[in-house]
Amino acid sequence: MATEASCIFCKIIKNEIPSFKLIETETVYSFLDIQPTTVGHLLVVPKYHGAKLHNVPDAYLKDILPVTKKLAVSLGLDVDSPLGAGYNVLQNNGRIAHQEVDHVHFHLIPKRDSVTGLGVGWPAKQADMKDLAALHEELVRKLGDK
Ligand code: 5GP
Ligand code: ZN
Repeated sequence: MATEASCIFCKIIKNEIPSFKLIETETVYSFLDIQPTTVGHLLVVPKYHGAKLHNVPDAYLKDILPVTKKLAVSLGLDVDSPLGAGYNVLQNNGRIAHQEVDHVHFHLIPKRDSVTGLGVGWPAKQADMKDLAALHEELVRKLGDK
């Protein structure tokens, strides 16, 4: 495992500072967020120090979603309630994208009402189909080069 001595999440993984640990696998560690936006807000982190998603090898990402899914079920978020409880999985990369801790982490955030949990500002607008087609062509070409 790649670790960074000064990283708070590396310290949590190594049990150098305490956390309310949930599931741990060979490649993943999960624990309750210390500043939750709602009850049950938790974090799932790879046991590999990488600041952004592209810095983490695939092997350290394979357990992330299965573990997140198990945790969602343990929080009862799989039960469709009359009020329609849901949840968000959020992973921020870079300060401008609201990343505070530079060790990749996935938030699991229950959404039980309009006030608590994640609030999303989403500036969607109808795409110009010509722009979309040009972007698609460029990306498909780049992906083909890999
Ligand atoms: P980010 O904004 O980087 O996506 O989220 C970082 C998250 O880590 C925040 O929700 C914050 O509350 C949480 N966090 C930061 N330091 C600690 C800590 O020492 N322990 C725990 N459990 N969570 C932390
Ligand atoms: Zn780290």
